[in-house]
Amino acid sequence: MTVVGPTKADAAGLPGTLKIARMDSTQQGLIDQHGRVATDLRVSLTDRCNLRCEYCMPAEGLDWLPSDETLTDVELIRLIAIAVEMLGVRDVRFTGGEPLLRRSLPKIVAETKALPSRPRTAMTSNGLGLKHMAKDLAEAGLDRVNISLDTINRESFAKITRRDRLPDVVEGLAAAREAGLKPVKINAVLLRGINDGDAPELLRWCMDNDYELRFIEQMPLDAQHNWNRDAMVTAGETLSLLGESFTLTQMDGRGSAPAEKFLIDGGPHTVGIIGSVTRPFCGDCNRVRLTADGQIRNCLFARDESDLRTALRTGASDELIAERWRTAIWAKLPGHGINDPAFLQPTRPMSAIGG
Ligand code: SAM
Ligand code: SF4
Repeated sequence: MTVVGPTKADAAGLPGTLKIARMDSTQQGLIDQHGRVATDLRVSLTDRCNLRCEYCMPAEGLDWLPSDETLTDVELIRLIAIAVEMLGVRDVRFTGGEPLLRRSLPKIVAETKALPSRPRTAMTSNGLGLKHMAKDLAEAGLDRVNISLDTINRESFAKITRRDRLPDVVEGLAAAREAGLKPVKINAVLLRGINDGDAPELLRWCMDNDYELRFIEQMPLDAQHNWNRDAMVTAGETLSLLGESFTLTQMDGRGSAPAEKFLIDGGPHTVGIIGSVTRPFCGDCNRVRLTADGQIRNCLFARDESDLRTALRTGASDELIAERWRTAIWAKLPGHGINDPAFLQPTRPMSAIGG
C-alpha cells in the first residue's frame, strides 16, 4: 500500500472566494473541487443516545438504525485504515449519537491508534458514564475529549436534555481531566430563555476547572425540524452576553478550526465561539464524516451521501473504496447554504450524522 498524504491545498477564506480546480486522478488525498483537503474524519459509532437534547432529538427518541445496517468493528476499522493510510486523514474523532454507548469503543480507539500513521484521536461525548471509562480510553490511545455541557444549572440541564444527569457529566469531566485527556473542551449550545442567562456562570465554572469552553450556534439539524433563525442565540449575542462579565480579546490564528478564540480578562483562559450560521467557516473546512451505517458525508449539511457499506459488503478492494471516497469529497459544495433562501435541511438529523 503506497501511503501518500495530501498536499495542503490553497483553500481560500470564504465560500465566495473558493477556487475551482479540475479533478486529477493522480491526487491521493481527499481534495475537493474548491481546493480544500479533508484530513479530519468524524466517525459516528452509533445513532443511539441516552439524552434527549431539545435541539437534537424529540423526547421520545428516534427510530434507531437496525443493527445489521450498522458497521461492524471490523468494517469500521477497515474504513478508518483506508482513510488514514491511503487518503491522508490525520485526525479521527469518534462521535454519535453517544459514542460511549458502543461497547467496543476502547478496542476501536486502540486499533485506530495502532495504525502505522498513528492518527490523533478524539471523542465528542455527552460524558455520561465517562467516569468509568476515561482511564481505559486514555490507555487505549484516546488523546482528548469534547464534552457537551450547555449549563451548570441542574434545572436548565434537565430541561434541555430531558434527563436529570448533570452530576454524571460533571464527574465524567473530572475523570477525563484526571486521565490526561487534555485539553478537556466543553461544547455548549445556548437556547434563548432557557440557558442563555447561564452562559457567564458556565464560563466561570469552566475557568475554575481548567476546561476550555466553546459556544456553538444552534444549527438546523434537529430531527424535529424546529430550528428557527430568530430564536437562535447568535455568536454576536453570545459575545455581548459574556462581555457583561468578562473582557474578551480576540486572538489570531484560527486556521481550519471553526472556533474564533478570545482571551478572557487578559488570559491565560480562553473561550471559543463557533458561529456556524452567522460566521460560516466553510472555506477552511477540512472535515469528512462517516455515519454509523457506512455512508460518507462531505458536509454536515450535505443532501447526498456515498454508500461505502455496500462496497465493503460486496467485496470491493481498498483501492476501489478509496477511489469512491475521493469522488465523494470532490463533489463537496463550497458552503452549507443555510443562509440561502432555498436552503433545505438534510434528511438525517445531527445525531445520525455524527456531530
Ligand atoms: N452525544 C454526543 C454529544 O452530545 O457530545 C456526540 C454527538 S452530538 C450530535 C455532537 C455535538 O453536536 C454536541 O456538542 C451537541 O451539542 C451538538 N449539537 C447537536 N445538535 C445541534 C444543533 N442543532 N446545533 C448545534 N449543535 C448541535
Ligand atoms: Fe444525544 Fe448528543 Fe444529541 Fe444530546 S446532542 S441528544 S447527547 S446525540
